Amino acid sequence: MENSNLANLKENWEHVYGRVFKACEAAGRSPSEVEIMAVSKTHPLSTVAAAAKIGWGVFGENRVQEAQDKIEKAEFDARWELIGHLQSNKASAAVRLFDRIQSVDSLKLARRLDRLATEAGKPQRILLQVNTGRDEGKFGVLPENVTEMVDFLGTASSLLWEGFMTIAPLEGGRSRARQAFADLRALADTIRTETNLSLPTLSMGMSGDLEEAINEGSTQVRIGSALFGTRKS
Ligand SMILES: *Cc1c(COP(=O)(O)O)cnc(C)c1O
Repeated sequence: MENSNLANLKENWEHVYGRVFKACEAAGRSPSEVEIMAVSKTHPLSTVAAAAKIGWGVFGENRVQEAQDKIEKAEFDARWELIGHLQSNKASAAVRLFDRIQSVDSLKLARRLDRLATEAGKPQRILLQVNTGRDEGKFGVLPENVTEMVDFLGTASSLLWEGFMTIAPLEGGRSRARQAFADLRALADTIRTETNLSLPTLSMGMSGDLEEAINEGSTQVRIGSALFGTRKS
């Protein structure tokens, strides 16, 4: 990694942190309540290693195979989280590789992960991905189907259910994104009350809409392009 690139990473972090700070201030929240995940998908391990060296600690990947190539070679400590749709034939590898799987989007997948985590003797941290924006191009449980998931996740023996994740709809701009975030927050509040579980994590907000997400209660923003630069693929 060239020095100029390293300088870019530092500068990008400062800029993103500044946005998070301002958004928290505007929302009357503390910046310590919002974690910045660096979405490293499509970026080579050398870049992730450089980022880890300057203190970035949480990386998001959307493909198991690509993540595996990085995680198995990484010589630095970091937390890796899966944020992309998980096919059932990759579930076993995902349990082995990821600290947290954010993209739990069906009852079938949840059951499989619970079984695999039990077999592996590894309690698996997860989030429930909800498609509150009802974007047909997106994965995620629809709000009306969340109840059966909640019933299962509340009793699964090897899943540590920590909260919720959503991706704002592609179309509709920031106001539609804000609505999707507000809906996720409301849903989370309802489920917390119903289940008495703390479910503290709300993973929502990306490079283009982190302000809206933080205003609606996000506890983790997933930032790709604003940290690493534009992706080629
Ligand atoms: C790629 C991706 C991101 C990051 O998107 P940017 O717009 O580059 O910040 C966040 N969340 C998910 C689920 C993604 O796939």
